[in-house]
Amino acid sequence: PAPNIETIAQLAKRRGFVFPSAEIYGGLASSWDYGPLGVEICNNVKRAWWRWMVYERDDIEGIDTAIIMNRLVWKYSGHEDTFSDPLVDCRACKSRLRADKLENHSGLPIEQAIAAGAVKCPNCGSTDLTEPRPFNLMFRTQVGPVAAEDDPSALAYLRPETAQGIFVNFLNVQRTARRKLPFGIAQIGKSFRNEVTPGNFIFRTREFEQMEMEYFVRPGEDERWHDYWIEQCFNWYTGLGLDPKNLRLYEQPPEELAHYSKRTVDIQYRFFPEREQEEKQWDELMGIANRTDFDLRAHSKGPVDAEGKRLNPDSTEDLSYFDEATRERFYPYVIEPAAGVNRSVLAFLMDAYTEKESERGEKRIVLRLHPELAPIKVAVLPLAKNKPEIVRMAKEIKRMLQPAMRTVYDDTAGIGKLYARQDEIGTPYCVTVDHQSLEDEAVTVRDRDTWQQVRVKVAELTEHLKKRLNL
Ligand code: ATP
Repeated sequence: PAPNIETIAQLAKRRGFVFPSAEIYGGLASSWDYGPLGVEICNNVKRAWWRWMVYERDDIEGIDTAIIMNRLVWKYSGHEDTFSDPLVDCRACKSRLRADKLENHSGLPIEQAIAAGAVKCPNCGSTDLTEPRPFNLMFRTQVGPVAAEDDPSALAYLRPETAQGIFVNFLNVQRTARRKLPFGIAQIGKSFRNEVTPGNFIFRTREFEQMEMEYFVRPGEDERWHDYWIEQCFNWYTGLGLDPKNLRLYEQPPEELAHYSKRTVDIQYRFFPEREQEEKQWDELMGIANRTDFDLRAHSKGPVDAEGKRLNPDSTEDLSYFDEATRERFYPYVIEPAAGVNRSVLAFLMDAYTEKESERGEKRIVLRLHPELAPIKVAVLPLAKNKPEIVRMAKEIKRMLQPAMRTVYDDTAGIGKLYARQDEIGTPYCVTVDHQSLEDEAVTVRDRDTWQQVRVKVAELTEHLKKRLNL
């Protein structure tokens, strides 16, 4: 694996995976643009997830909901009140800090520890810190031409999670797809959080993409399904090549749990292998939460308080479920596996990174990406670019392969350099057209991981590669 995130950030920029956003204007803190290879690997991760979640199962439907929704969604989901981080300012160096991430060995709650001078600013060491105050992470915007300051009804938010779009559509999907419990709804899309401390390349940004699935179950069966999804998700990552040694499960302690969660287990990846303390090497890749019936209940018109007053006077629907078999009506419980596309891409890139020595003793970078994730599956390379017949044949082979797999043609360097370039971006196979190809209608297929070469007839090439790429 890569020794640190920085190694991947440099490779990503050099080879066209990820660029700092709007760099010609000095960029924007923690905003990134995905280049020709970056967009491919992101799409491949999303496609793999969708295939696994939606196509290869019988119990999950897909959906794609709006990023800007009625503000009431975020009122009743609890995000307006509670989706915030505790913010602290360092008076000495003016850094903005997250109170919950500060080192606190005093045994006191963080507010008291700060007041007692027991907590240091990680940037300058000062203990002159402000009291923590809640900072809401939702991006605010306005709908229509009147500013939200002048007309509060114009206030809207960019969604901070895709999940709520699923909950408010629970009945739409359940009815139109005629679903019975247990079943799930999956969504992939952008989410936005005005993070206090974004950073570490694409690990934490203010704009990112999520892959979320809400799995609706009978209350009482939730714990079993929670365990099931934890295992499934772990296996999804290892099945796509992540080394289990760099993954672990982390049980969130009660004080870390989100307002809706009964239990949350994170799949963590070793994003920071360079850190001395083993405990600090890990961070969240994906969270799997038991959200109970919190959200469906909160968005329903039915529930009332002790005086019989509706808890949600705005909703026009009751998002409960009627079980035909038992003649019972209840609010389903929800198990939610929630992953980040960008964070997953970072983990896949880090884990695939290897350095190898060539026969000439040069250091070579090889990205051993799972073929399904590799941005380019095959590169067709002519051995001599001044031979028109060879070039023509190579281009024809590229055209032959491209409907079945992402293929590129490259003749802008000598063969050694061309191989090295493809290794560095994780291309599983290179196809080389040489002088002999003109006579025997065969080409050389070179394997990225073993550097072994085999001779394959052009007529059999598509099938040969499809089989190896599992297409
Ligand atoms: P963290 O504790 O790292 O802030 P979280 O617990 O708030 O994350 P969730 O709300 O569980 O994150 O979101 C699910 C997934 O979405 C995360 O596991 C992560 O992969 C991704 N994610 C969340 N916030 C960001 C972000 N700011 N940038 C990139 N990915 C993110």
